[in-house]
Amino acid sequence: MTRESVATRFGGFPTVEEGETWPLCDGCAGDLTFVAQVDYSRDGLHDKLPIVFFTFFYCWVCHPWGQDREKGRWLVRSYTGLRRPKVLVQGDGPAFVERHAVPRLAKSLPDGAGMHLHCRELWDLVPGESGSREAWANWDVVDRAALRLTQERAPRPHMRNAGVAIGGYPYWVNGGDKTPVCTQCTRPMELLLQIRPSELTDADWGDVGTLYLFMCRKHTQRTGLRIQCT
Ligand SMILES: [Zn+2]
Ligand SMILES: [Zn+2]
Repeated sequence: MTRESVATRFGGFPTVEEGETWPLCDGCAGDLTFVAQVDYSRDGLHDKLPIVFFTFFYCWVCHPWGQDREKGRWLVRSYTGLRRPKVLVQGDGPAFVERHAVPRLAKSLPDGAGMHLHCRELWDLVPGESGSREAWANWDVVDRAALRLTQERAPRPHMRNAGVAIGGYPYWVNGGDKTPVCTQCTRPMELLLQIRPSELTDADWGDVGTLYLFMCRKHTQRTGLRIQCT
């Protein structure tokens, strides 16, 4: 693969396998809009999923919010290799301005809500009945324990993936953990891409919406979408 065509980018035009065409929306039959592509083998955080590259498309006419019946109104195309990658150009120009970033490959930890799913032992240390409303007010207990684990002195934003993130753990911006489960094996999916409002992309989901993409480690054709607004 040529590195340049598969480089992580937001906006611009997507790279596809030669012969692949522009994906259409199952809902309105219009073109899906290209949002981002990721050189996952290079830029994915720890515990990588077994793919090397993916592209992400979304329909702003249908505006899916992650329900099962919205299948095909957004799309993750993932690859374990690309033989003849080429940039697929379409229309008068890209929907979004092309932008690039260099990822910071640090270790991420689940956020307070995510500890419930990913680190039950730690969550159980939270005073009160873990998961209850009182416990939500005690997330700092989880935070302090997490800091001890990583031997950090102060929480750094990226430790909690609080931004645009490729892999690692989701940072839930509003309410509880909404990790989708795989419809084939019922196991929780893993974070593929999280897009918070950022200078990296002009794509947006409602008023200050964060979009999360998930994938099953075993069944990589199974992907999930979530959106939370703050
Ligand atoms: Zn549509
Ligand atoms: Zn699965």
